[in-house]
Amino acid sequence: MSSSTRARLSLALILALVALAASALFSTAGAATLTVHLSEAIPDFPNGITFRLQADVSDPVTRVELRYFPDGVPVINVARPQTRTGTHVDVTHTVDLLLDYLPPAVDVRYYWQLTLASGESVRTPEQRLFYMDEQHDWKSLQDGIVTLYYYAGNQSFAQQALDITVRAIERFDRAFGVTTEGPIRVVMYANDRDFRAALPVGSDDWVGGFAEPDLGLIVVAIQPGDTGEVARMLSHEVVHVVMAQATANPYNAPPPWLNEGIASYYQEVPDDRFAPVIQRAAREGRLDTVRALNSAFPADPAAAILAYAESESIARFIIEEKGTDAMADLINVFREGVSYDEAVQRALGISLDELDQEWKAWLGYPGDA
Ligand SMILES: [Zn+2]
Repeated sequence: MSSSTRARLSLALILALVALAASALFSTAGAATLTVHLSEAIPDFPNGITFRLQADVSDPVTRVELRYFPDGVPVINVARPQTRTGTHVDVTHTVDLLLDYLPPAVDVRYYWQLTLASGESVRTPEQRLFYMDEQHDWKSLQDGIVTLYYYAGNQSFAQQALDITVRAIERFDRAFGVTTEGPIRVVMYANDRDFRAALPVGSDDWVGGFAEPDLGLIVVAIQPGDTGEVARMLSHEVVHVVMAQATANPYNAPPPWLNEGIASYYQEVPDDRFAPVIQRAAREGRLDTVRALNSAFPADPAAAILAYAESESIARFIIEEKGTDAMADLINVFREGVSYDEAVQRALGISLDELDQEWKAWLGYPGDA
């Protein structure tokens, strides 16, 4: 054995020791061990995420499962990619998120679970991927539970957007005693083109922003410097997130007329389309019933705006005529997962149809045409 061979061997030994130290060794209650050499997730927004695992296990592997879920969602997705049996695992799996849409700025939690021939199973430690739209160079600002992501415009505009969001949360809390735990993330696109590129396939053309309350997420398109739009949109969308947290239960969510009504009522800048739209519909005797607004709003833009305007008017009627406490009661009763009829009856002391009649009398509605 020449000295150079010996030197090479000891170098190989050192490298092996370094590799062992760098990779993590996990054992379960049984004898099975798992050595992870590589576990990574590579995002390709909005198409999907590619997960890769390289590992060694103490017994031949019979099944490989990738388990992943967006933070805040209680449902775990399971993928079972094909793998060769053996004690070495090298598996790659791409999750297609084009159809199963996942918005930007979501933490995806994941781990691998391997079932071995011995019957035991081992799993990798949970990891987190920040799934974000890689098309832009994002900057972020944070205030308490709210983090705002932006890539265009100056910092003072972003700060203004963050302040509006935080203020809306505080205002809602003061009015209805609803505390929000968060975290809440706001993703601010700078134009419609960039925003549309980040939307799920088949989104309505008129959508300018949306909230994903379960994910504590708001995604909007606002031109940098448009202070009116930032006040209108963010103060609206954040109320959806706060409302969802305030009423969370496994059985029932508040109806669209309450969700959209209260979000529209609490906008810092009101939507100036609402008043003329509702006045005209009232004049023409074609207002919807409150009960009809229990269902999802129509896709047709004109009908959708009327539904929003009516919802805002119903929320305004409840707050201004029955009082903020009555609205607080209504929000709180939804936490119990009751039906729409029961919620209105219990919180306001009238039936859903009486609410419809009282609201329309308040508007001076002449009746259906
Ligand atoms: Zn809304």
